[in-house]
Amino acid sequence: MRVAIIGAGAAGLASAKHVASNGFECDVFELREQLGGTWVYTDDVGTDIYGYPVYSAMYKGLRTNLPKEVMGFPDFPIPDQNKSYLTQAEILDFLNLYANHFDLKKLIKFSTMVTDVRPVEENQWRVTYINKPTNESVTRIYDAVMICNGHYNDPVFPHILGQENFNGKLEHSHTFRSPESYKGQRVLVVGAGPSGLDLTLQVSRVAKYVVLSHHSPEANKTAYPENVEKKPDIKRIVDSELVEFVDGSCCGFDVVLLCTGYKYSFPFLHESCGVTVDDNYIQPLYKHMIHIDKPTMCFIGIPFNVCAFQMFDLQARYFCKSLNGSMRLPSSEEMRMHTKREMQNRWAKGYSKRQAHMMGQYQETYYNDLAADANTIPIAPVLVKLRDLSVKRLYDDLLNFREDRYKILDNETYVKLKVQ
Ligand code: FAD
Repeated sequence: MRVAIIGAGAAGLASAKHVASNGFECDVFELREQLGGTWVYTDDVGTDIYGYPVYSAMYKGLRTNLPKEVMGFPDFPIPDQNKSYLTQAEILDFLNLYANHFDLKKLIKFSTMVTDVRPVEENQWRVTYINKPTNESVTRIYDAVMICNGHYNDPVFPHILGQENFNGKLEHSHTFRSPESYKGQRVLVVGAGPSGLDLTLQVSRVAKYVVLSHHSPEANKTAYPENVEKKPDIKRIVDSELVEFVDGSCCGFDVVLLCTGYKYSFPFLHESCGVTVDDNYIQPLYKHMIHIDKPTMCFIGIPFNVCAFQMFDLQARYFCKSLNGSMRLPSSEEMRMHTKREMQNRWAKGYSKRQAHMMGQYQETYYNDLAADANTIPIAPVLVKLRDLSVKRLYDDLLNFREDRYKILDNETYVKLKVQ
């Protein structure tokens, strides 16, 4: 069994660990020169020195929005430290520690971009990749493909009425690297997801003022710094600096910072793979990960609002069980029917296509379901509780949620709960 893994972020590393421990042969392709994906900081934006896209949305000063217990792997927790919320560099160190511990670096082809994946006869896959420094292109055949390319690479740029009038800077959070260039500026942050909220805080430390335009009821609960004002959605950009909001109010800006999210994107999948992305709904996927018609292809890390690293590990275990024959997947027809029922349920509850892979309240059921099918260890329920509490805390008290006075569990209680 030869397995190709695309990406050496947290999802690719967890996949490599399980593929290797099953005794399968494996190549991990990573377009950057180091592992860690999201958690690698670079000053670069646009294209790199070889002319390839820079896949990075990381900015200086980022600290996690979840405590370290949630961010470890089930078989490799983050070592105990005197704080809960780690920095970008600390998570990157942790991923390197994980890769060293399981001896994964030897499996990774760095500076190597996968450019084409397509099915070939006998349920195999033809994978083509380019070594960026040499520009050499190689094609190899694999028995299975695990797609771990992350989903913060293709930014969503909404069209704002009148945006061609605006003379200031219009930037997406994907290229935001540090607040320095926003010093003394009048900044409009659009969107109140985790990035929008965090960047509002970062930028407010140096900006003249920040307006956060959003429609999230959750983001109205917390207090903000004094120079931050909330506004509803944008109606239009009136002139070179003036923005009008849907409540009729207007304000002038030097910068518009779009924190408007990302699209799932798999530019290397040839159309014969039969994978479509429609408004962020990926098809045809069983349990948000297995290609229904070609089940030797899987996607690790698609669901969001999850305990990410824990889930990557569980999904990788699930897929490996299907490869090593210890778990038999249902037929394609059964998988299609199961998915149809699941999605009908979601639509009936009011979920939009954009929320097709959102877990949130479905998290625990999803994890338990995967674990039961694959007869493997589920994710500790305490981690789901810890995640939910931390997210609630973030929205209740954005300014202080990382502070120790909010420490949700001491280590001893955490270990006890985990064992139960
Ligand atoms: P990534 O980390 O994006 O890794 C994908 C890898 O695939 C990259 O290294 C990329 O270079 C590589 N790749 C892509 N295409 C190709 C190709 N064609 N060929 C070869 N290689 C390729 N999650 C949390 O749990 N807590 C947090 O606090 C948190 N903060 C975040 C802050 C920011 C700014 C962002 C953007 C995300 C944050 N996340 C957070 C989510 C985070 O992305 C996930 O937790 C996790 O790191 C994603 O891992 P991944 O392996 O799926 O993707």
